[in-house]
Amino acid sequence: MIGKLKRKVVVPGDKIGVIEEYIPYNGTYEHNSEILSSLAGFLEEDLEKHTVSVKTMRRILLPKPGDVVYAVVVSTSEKSASVMIISINNKLLNNYFSGLIQIRSSSMDSMKSIRSALKPGDMVKCEVLGYNNDIYHLRMHRSEFGVVYALCTKCGGVLVRSGKELKCQICNNIENRKIANDYGIIRLG
Ligand SMILES: [Zn+2]
Repeated sequence: MIGKLKRKVVVPGDKIGVIEEYIPYNGTYEHNSEILSSLAGFLEEDLEKHTVSVKTMRRILLPKPGDVVYAVVVSTSEKSASVMIISINNKLLNNYFSGLIQIRSSSMDSMKSIRSALKPGDMVKCEVLGYNNDIYHLRMHRSEFGVVYALCTKCGGVLVRSGKELKCQICNNIENRKIANDYGIIRLG
């Protein structure tokens, strides 16, 4: 019994044992009398307490205030946009975090609404303000922040920069966004 589970690697959903054997602990859950892993990590058992837990093996990268992130716009309203954060400081994430861009923290003078500045599917470059109410608050106040990649809302073609506007390479449709000054360049490691 001793060492049976030592250093065994599990992923979410892996069967670890049954509740007759162990008491499920951190990183595990019980389903139909079986103990399953809820994390990717190493199995750890406590033979005295008959507990089993999973210790996560990767250090999870979390957005911090001041970090620069790339995010994909999911939905927009007049005053805010919901986004998925896909990278932190140019490092692509394996998972994603939910973010919110609010018009009041972005001080976009020329923009009357977020809806006219961003469209669902756009890739935006933002700065992290902080974490509150289970969501990361982002802003795109400076000229370096804003949309870096967007597709035509009419035909799905790639929009290229044309002065202060964006122009579809396929149908010549002209669109407006809050454009980052390095529109078209995405740096991801
Ligand atoms: Zn088009």
